[in-house]
Amino acid sequence: MPHTIVTHVCEGVADCVDACPVACINPGPGKNNKGTEWYWIDFSTCIDCGICLQVCPVEGAIIPEERPDLQETP
Ligand code: SF4
Ligand code: SF4
Repeated sequence: MPHTIVTHVCEGVADCVDACPVACINPGPGKNNKGTEWYWIDFSTCIDCGICLQVCPVEGAIIPEERPDLQETP
């Protein structure tokens, strides 16, 4: 199952972006509710490897489920 970046928990650190082996993590437009940059995962490309979750320093920003209700996708 694809992973999800919770839009309003992400702090835009972007450690996940370079770590993703299939380059499916993309920047979102504008700022989230925290006032930071935010990223989103392309569910159709994600291979569910879990590396993004391991490298993300922000508790709860990435969850190992497909949750389109928590992740904004431009
Ligand atoms: S999901 Fe985590 S590592 Fe990725 S941009 Fe957001 S805070 Fe940074
Ligand atoms: S689970 Fe793997 S493939 Fe999916 S977004 Fe995270 S690092 Fe990329």
